[in-house]
Amino acid sequence: MLTRFAPAPTGFLHLGHVVNALHVWGAAREQGGSVLLRIEDHDRQRSRPEYDAAILEDLAWLGFAHHGPVVRQREREAIYQEALRPLIDRGLVYGCRCTRSDLQGERYPNTCRERCLPLADGAGWRVRFEPGVERFVDTIKGPQEQDPSEQCGDLLVRDRLGNWTYQFVAAVDDHLQGITDVIRGEDLLASTGRQLRLAWLIGRRTPPRFWHHPLVMKSPTQKLSKSDGDTGIRELRASGMSSAAVLDMARKVGNLLT
Ligand code: GLU
Repeated sequence: MLTRFAPAPTGFLHLGHVVNALHVWGAAREQGGSVLLRIEDHDRQRSRPEYDAAILEDLAWLGFAHHGPVVRQREREAIYQEALRPLIDRGLVYGCRCTRSDLQGERYPNTCRERCLPLADGAGWRVRFEPGVERFVDTIKGPQEQDPSEQCGDLLVRDRLGNWTYQFVAAVDDHLQGITDVIRGEDLLASTGRQLRLAWLIGRRTPPRFWHHPLVMKSPTQKLSKSDGDTGIRELRASGMSSAAVLDMARKVGNLLT
């Protein structure tokens, strides 16, 4: 069993991350597995080295030890190019000139599909998603069915600024790192069908198991977010709390008390 903790260095760790880390390291401990640490800094505009450093420091302070070297997505350009190459060769990737304001709603209406735009700088890159249902059994939430072509249309894998998208790099890294169990908050449940579709397309034969656990909510309708600075681990540390007390607090808000 090999799982991963995969924060984006776009803010400091908050209690929601600690709850996720408790699920990840808890499952690894129970199953005799290991945890890899992957810094998801694919968004070069939003990621910051100071958040990256602070995340490593806070994890060490909390006692979450990962296995092997830290993997950073921004260092994996050649790997992502190579993973996409067979899809380009099969004619499954096309250039897209649509801007955010051209798009309405969640689903991309495949506007640029037949325009034959090159995969040039300044264009987004999309992978064709034909209709079809992806089925999987979530370890926590049970059987699921998602049709990514209905949910999101043809999937953006690289944006107009040259950033790889989360969906693509997560699927590639989970495959190439041999991740057997993806354990994360249930806000990402809807991404799973598209990541499975990508996994098949890039040649993964055995998909990982997925575990989507409940999120820590600020109120019944608002989830915690690191960008609004809610319950940052830094603040809790600065207030003099011990790491054991922060872990207890996370167990409590995450309903992980046994
Ligand atoms: N980088 C993602 C996040 O911080 C994690 C996604 C995942 O676990 O697949 O939300």
